[in-house]
Amino acid sequence: MIVDERLVTYINSLDTGNTSILDQIEQEALDSYVPIIRKEMQQFLKLLLAMKRPMRILEVGTAVGFSAILMAEYDPVPCEITTIENYEKRIPIAKENIKKAGRENVIKLLEGDAMEIMPTLESNQFDFVFMDAAKGQYIHYLPEVTRLLSEGGVLVSDNVLQDGDVLESRFAVTRRNRTIHSRMREYLTMLTHTPELTTSVIPIGDGVSLTMKKNTEEM
Ligand code: SAM
Repeated sequence: MIVDERLVTYINSLDTGNTSILDQIEQEALDSYVPIIRKEMQQFLKLLLAMKRPMRILEVGTAVGFSAILMAEYDPVPCEITTIENYEKRIPIAKENIKKAGRENVIKLLEGDAMEIMPTLESNQFDFVFMDAAKGQYIHYLPEVTRLLSEGGVLVSDNVLQDGDVLESRFAVTRRNRTIHSRMREYLTMLTHTPELTTSVIPIGDGVSLTMKKNTEEM
């Protein structure tokens, strides 16, 4: 946890909650150890959706559909959500949850590896992208995600501070996490140093980065 636990508990105590179908899916995910977005991230996403009012959303990393359904429930405008998942065991559960939430007409689940699926999607079509898949792959997804984002579009990347490990020296993190560590640093450097992007890294949840693809005329 990168933020003082008591502070997180306090912040989460202010949360006004989600719809009951989301509560049910969240509980089932937690009971079966499926990683889904934390409370702080849920509230942050809801705020961003209220501000940005996106009409076409791309999510990389569906798991069992919790965050996709949350976006469908809390985007104030009618939207289309495309979400990508490659873990076969989670796909049927995600489909079932999307059906239970009555969001089959809104959420399109694409089954397979995001690295293979994203190149098949049309450029500049998404005004909101939520990146929540394998942390070590974010750097590889970035060129495709940038191509898919429309100008003025927003990219939200979750888990970018790796429980605080990202600021440690490469040798201070366990050998197992070293590749992810260096790739995540590279990712944050790319997000913050690519001229067509503007980014803020925010220490909530497990760390989130908020990026906007600039309008070409304003660069
Ligand atoms: N966004 C979900 C939520 O909050 O409800 C949680 C997503 S979970 C943290 C990450 C998911 O990304 C996992 O289910 C994993 O199988 C999937 N994933 C990882 N690498 C992927 C890839 N290359 N293509 C598609 N899905 C991937």
